[in-house]
Amino acid sequence: MTVGITILDRPAGHDDQTLTIRIGDAEHQLHAVWLRDACVCAACRNPATNERLVDSAQIPLDLGVVAANVEQGHLRVELTDGHTAICETVWLRRHLADVGEASDPAAGRLLWDGGGGALSTFARTDLDDPAGLVAWLDTITERGAAVVTGVDPSDDGLRSVARLIGDIRATNYGVTWRIEATIEPVSAVDSERGLLVHTDLPYRDVAPGLQLLLAGVVDVAGGASTLVDGYAVAEQIRTADPAAWRLLTATEFSYPFVRDDVEFHGRAPLIGLRPDGTYFQIRRAPDLAGSPFVDAADVADLYRALRRWTDLIDHPDNEVQVALRPGELLAFDNHRVLHGRTPFALGSSGRRLLHGCYLDIEDLRSRRAVAARST
Ligand SMILES: [Zn+2]
Repeated sequence: MTVGITILDRPAGHDDQTLTIRIGDAEHQLHAVWLRDACVCAACRNPATNERLVDSAQIPLDLGVVAANVEQGHLRVELTDGHTAICETVWLRRHLADVGEASDPAAGRLLWDGGGGALSTFARTDLDDPAGLVAWLDTITERGAAVVTGVDPSDDGLRSVARLIGDIRATNYGVTWRIEATIEPVSAVDSERGLLVHTDLPYRDVAPGLQLLLAGVVDVAGGASTLVDGYAVAEQIRTADPAAWRLLTATEFSYPFVRDDVEFHGRAPLIGLRPDGTYFQIRRAPDLAGSPFVDAADVADLYRALRRWTDLIDHPDNEVQVALRPGELLAFDNHRVLHGRTPFALGSSGRRLLHGCYLDIEDLRSRRAVAARST
């Protein structure tokens, strides 16, 4: 693959530390120090390990550009220290596209609401093929959720799917966990009650990015899983009420979580953004949220925004329901997709057992990249 790069004349009056190039419709200015640092020649990067051999902090700041050309898919720039800095054009295009603040916080995501149709479903056997695995992981990345059928309805079955992505992330709930409804519940999750859509472990600095939920035994009426696309709801707010959106992305709430054996005191905004302005972690935990860190002057506006956010999150128009049968697994992005359930009735002999575990979302991206090498 080659990327067309045009080297443009330096604008009049421009200092000689930058080179201007055009890729497609976009013009970019590249600084000599940045180019020196980005060089991938064998003297600058270990060809076997790609480990850096140049100390970024020691590059002279008065470095200038002497000449530049593009050949064999590489930009080559001669610098005033005598070194020719080399960058792959494919890498350059991808990297430069992400410089600066993103104009679309949900870039690369396919947002959905309750009318968006059924979730995509994959057969467990399809995931043993690299192309099938990539398709499944891409669906989770783009839509935030996907169903897998034909999984052994057991802890082993759950682990076999987790292994397709990476190592399970253990938490204060253990490595894998079970949710089984009882008629004498200790907490809401063990009861027959419905659960408002929420995200798990909001009190952690970085909540697990991926959750796998496998139906083991489903011998009850009701108890469907409910899903809401948190990024889609955030976009509804941003479009309709930018001031409310800014408050929800900037105001931190406390998340105290104190039990016999753990004590977390998290703090984070309800809509967490990455430094480039794209969506990161949505937090929604009606029973775990503490108090916001907010000045009295902003309280009324914040709680108005909170009500708007909550009304949209809990609106049926934004909700998808999926009734998992034994052997069906739901994989979803716990930073983006909120999950809950409809109420159900155990009756005299009913049983409802789910197996679950968490993984980190960057392991999904890693496995996807590795799997794509063999497709
Ligand atoms: Zn070099």
